[in-house]
Amino acid sequence: MGKCVCIIAEFRHGAFRRVTYEVASEGKRLADALGVGLCAVAVGSGVADKAAELGRYAVDKVFAVDDPALENYLAESYVPLVADVLAGCDPAAVVMSASVDGKDFAARLSARLKAGLAQDCTQVVCENGKIKAKRPVFAGKCYGWCEWAEGALPVISCRPNVMDCLAPMEDKKAEVEKVQVSIPQTRSCVKSLDLDTSGKVELTEAEIIVSGGRGMKGPENYAMLEELAKVLGAAVGASRAAVDSGWRPHADQVGQTGKVVNPNLYIAVGISGAIQHLAGMGSSKFIVAVNKDSEAPIFSKADYGVVEDLFNFVPAFTEEIRKLKSSCS
Ligand SMILES: Cc1cc2nc3c(=O)[nH]c(=O)nc-3n(C[C@H](O)[C@H](O)[C@H](O)COP(=O)(O)OP(=O)(O)OC[C@H]3O[C@@H](n4cnc5c(N)ncnc54)[C@H](O)[C@@H]3O)c2cc1C
Repeated sequence: MGKCVCIIAEFRHGAFRRVTYEVASEGKRLADALGVGLCAVAVGSGVADKAAELGRYAVDKVFAVDDPALENYLAESYVPLVADVLAGCDPAAVVMSASVDGKDFAARLSARLKAGLAQDCTQVVCENGKIKAKRPVFAGKCYGWCEWAEGALPVISCRPNVMDCLAPMEDKKAEVEKVQVSIPQTRSCVKSLDLDTSGKVELTEAEIIVSGGRGMKGPENYAMLEELAKVLGAAVGASRAAVDSGWRPHADQVGQTGKVVNPNLYIAVGISGAIQHLAGMGSSKFIVAVNKDSEAPIFSKADYGVVEDLFNFVPAFTEEIRKLKSSCS
């Protein structure tokens, strides 16, 4: 058995991403079950100054690999650096996020470490000292449990927005060890990143999401959903049918091959509720479905269902919310 559970933190543009706190929380539950400590490897430019913050999410010690050349994620440089750090801390398991970068990183890291990878896990348990991880198989149609052979190192990536976050411990700081490294020579480099600065609410962080599917009939009709989203302070999502039709960008896609979201309120408009869509929004706290077909599968998952033509319902609903808000202010 290794000495700790080690998480891989995601540090981008001067801050830890929320997924890091989810991973730390899951790492802590696993570390407690194994009776070991929780440590983290954090790579990035300026990360050493922020690393102690991870103590709020129960991390005992952070190995910080800090260099201006590590500003942007690049598998070629991040993987060997993290593998070297892990070799020195003898982990019982390595846990990270199954974010876009995280999935890429997890696959390469586990190959380098000759470890067993369970990707995109939705649950991790430890029974009698044996780690088991639940993950989707057959394109999300069912779930399987992964176990590791004796002596094999588990590398686990956790699906974002699924693992419960611990309540932050405001005054706890992690011990930080700055690791001296020489940056590997790479064949490629990231010159710059163009971030979406349109001021839209990011889907994976949104409290309310209004999502439209094929029932929207065309890209021009999303103006109606944008309007509703504006009144509610929500983000706009889409089904794959809408994205594949070119009505919405892929960044808006919710589902198994899109984003996994966990808002307080998810309003599905003109979406049938295919299993691959439910895989991305099924854990939302409240689900409202608007569909003119009362037999649509989405209704079996919804807390509230509106059987109505969306082109009648959405403008009227937006108007009612607007009135309600102005009467409250
Ligand atoms: C490997 C794989 C991965 C996939 N990944 C994803 C994924 O990540 N996300 C995803 O969403 N899908 C994904 N899919 C596709 C998925 O199987 C469905 O095809 C897709 O979700 C259907 O999108 P939809 O509900 O918008 O369209 P449809 O299934 O066509 O449903 C449209 C709905 O709109 C309703 N409607 C039509 N007109 C109106 C109206 N005027 N008023 C009210 N309601 C109306 C209809 O009754 C219908 O229920 C994946 C599929 C595969 C095989």
